[in-house]
Amino acid sequence: MKQLEDQSQRFRLAYGTAALVVGILTAGWGLVFAYMQAWPLAVMDVAVVVTAFSSFALTRRHQLSAALFLSQFSFLAIIIVFCLLFDVPSATAPRVSHLFLLVLALLGYINYQREGSRLQLALIALCLMSFVFFASTNLRVPYADPIADEFRVYGSWLNTIVAVSMLCGGLYAMQREFARNLDQARDLKAALTNREFELFYQPQVDENGNLTGAEALLRWKRPGGGYVSPAEFIPVAEEAGFMPVIGDWVFNESCKTLVFWQQDVATRDLTLSVNVSVDQFMKDDFVDTVLARLKALEIDPTRLKLELTESMMADDVGLIVKKMGALRAAGITISLDDFGTGYSSLSHLRQLPVHEIKIDRSFVQGAPESRRNQLLLKSIFDIARTLDMSVVAEGIETKEQFRLLQSFGCTAFQGFYFGRPLPLPAFQKQWANDGAPPLAETA
Ligand code: C2E
Ligand code: MG
Ligand code: MG
Repeated sequence: MKQLEDQSQRFRLAYGTAALVVGILTAGWGLVFAYMQAWPLAVMDVAVVVTAFSSFALTRRHQLSAALFLSQFSFLAIIIVFCLLFDVPSATAPRVSHLFLLVLALLGYINYQREGSRLQLALIALCLMSFVFFASTNLRVPYADPIADEFRVYGSWLNTIVAVSMLCGGLYAMQREFARNLDQARDLKAALTNREFELFYQPQVDENGNLTGAEALLRWKRPGGGYVSPAEFIPVAEEAGFMPVIGDWVFNESCKTLVFWQQDVATRDLTLSVNVSVDQFMKDDFVDTVLARLKALEIDPTRLKLELTESMMADDVGLIVKKMGALRAAGITISLDDFGTGYSSLSHLRQLPVHEIKIDRSFVQGAPESRRNQLLLKSIFDIARTLDMSVVAEGIETKEQFRLLQSFGCTAFQGFYFGRPLPLPAFQKQWANDGAPPLAETA
């Protein structure tokens, strides 16, 4: 997520700056046209300036999608009107304004990659169709008011150079983003062989604040740098197809920890929650590998929880249900992570052999102040009760959140309020000594 946010942030700043530059330059031209009393052209310029400055204002308010759609719609309309009324080809100078339709289509494509939608695809198609039309015809509407040829001769050169430069700029920006991801993917591949991954453990507690288990969370320790959050590198690893291999490593490390815990009375009843990515879960041999590993290491399957996310439901639900069923039959707990943020419908939820749902922290965090959030949380607990599932509340940061969730009947919690993720030795020291959790004041 962080990586996507950074990418969006860079794009937002670049787009805001471009809108500002276009606005200022066009305002300058508008003054020239007004001075020459070329009023129709000055009016067109006003339309461009209003669009550019409004887009700039929207990017400043972090409304990038709105800014992009506004620009795309307005500029498409402006270019079409300009081509029909003012930029009419003659024997001396060709039409050039339609070249900017290619720039618009590229902008649409970049926006589509950021946030795909049918509307965006339709806009791209409209830009390309309009480009083909204006490139292939000399159509001249009867009420056209063409710019004089002596200006258009220079304008053709200038506008073509500007349009081609904008295309090159867009392609360069895309190439840089691509190279950045490739670099990170290459480093990730090396990270596995260089043993740069570590597992951190975040405590999970019951309603009295007593330790019941932990969630294993992946960290990447870059040489010479600090820890990189999984939210930053997992999307890249997923894209590069590395998640099954990295997930294998996580699972094996988690098994080692479970074996270690089983040897001590203070820790042998703890459960360990392990996150599983879609690619990893959908591998043909996932279930067999997990069961064989537990058997080989003589691990009690009831100590293991596998956390899956709702986004998985986009895949073959029948197969997912079958795989979950086999794991559940072996005694493993299936947990649905980040509940409420994905797309799983109630009918999916009814079909899934899930024991536990983890309410996403976004529901928890605003809850004490928001009555609507409280009602939503309450209905999640009602649904879970109806479907015979238990609920873990994630992302508890304050006493108020803890109390509120307790009042809904929640009995399992995780969050910074109880403890941050720690490397295993620190987790053991802080939490597993004599099985006495340092939580007396929070209970
Ligand atoms: P998740 O499974 O929902 O894990 C919980 C995330 O919330 C963790 O972030 C944790 O540090 C953070 N968190 C816990 N309590 C609080 C709190 O009170 N406040 C706030 N603001 N955050 C809290 P982390 O470790 O950065 O992990 C992010 C996500 O990366 C995880 O979300 C999970 O989806 C994914 N992930 C982590 N490790 C693995 C892994 O080994 N395999 C796979 N497939 N995904 C993993
Ligand atoms: Mg999780
Ligand atoms: Mg979660």
